[in-house]
Amino acid sequence: MPEKIQVIPLRAFNDNYVWTLRSGSSVAVVDPGQAQPVLDYLAAENVRLVAILATHHHQDHVGGIAELLEAGKVPVYGPRGEPIATLTQAVGGGDTVSLEQLGVSFEVLDIPGHTRAHVAYYGANMLFCGDTLFACGCGKAFEGTPQQLYASLEKLMALPDETLVYCGHEYTMSNIRFAKTVEPDNVALVEREASDARLRAENRPTLPSTIAREKATNPFVRVSRPAVVASANKYLGKRVSDPASVFAALRKWKNEF
Ligand SMILES: [Zn+2]
Repeated sequence: MPEKIQVIPLRAFNDNYVWTLRSGSSVAVVDPGQAQPVLDYLAAENVRLVAILATHHHQDHVGGIAELLEAGKVPVYGPRGEPIATLTQAVGGGDTVSLEQLGVSFEVLDIPGHTRAHVAYYGANMLFCGDTLFACGCGKAFEGTPQQLYASLEKLMALPDETLVYCGHEYTMSNIRFAKTVEPDNVALVEREASDARLRAENRPTLPSTIAREKATNPFVRVSRPAVVASANKYLGKRVSDPASVFAALRKWKNEF
């Protein structure tokens, strides 16, 4: 009987998380932008790195991979079609990543928009979604269109409500401030602000979130709600109602917020 998987948040830079999956003495990491926090963890816990997963090519997600490989070669999974020099296993939507030492496998989902070929890993009730979906927010559409990014978020919202959502950054409190501007009367949002503020006051992560929680509070996936549409129209100074246009308005607004 395999041991249950633990997920440990290792902090990198100011607000990145290197999500670290552990079963027994085997460890896999998601998006190691820096090697040192991972090397410190491996040494302190006397555990062994068996795999690296990358969601997209940005340096704050892959910058630590080369140094981790110096300590021992392990498979590096990441999106086909993005410039990640350290990749050994290029993956894309529909592929499966099986981490046998951890007794878990993940389905790869294509979620372009933040970057051209950004992927997510979904399995064992967990979602690792990099910089596409954030708690109460979403990433910027750097290499894709807002429409693509919106379609990617919709794909993630189709996952089961109880799915645990592990995002690439701790951006929750600033995202909540924007969300409250868009939807000041959302009671679930006000409650979320109070509970997440308590976690941050104790220097604890606000993650993982859940798909249900995002559906209740994240304005970027609530673009069909009348209150969200009304706020987007007020910002734009004109009337739009289709979800992708409302989403694009929110994304632009947040960039300026
Ligand atoms: Zn990024």
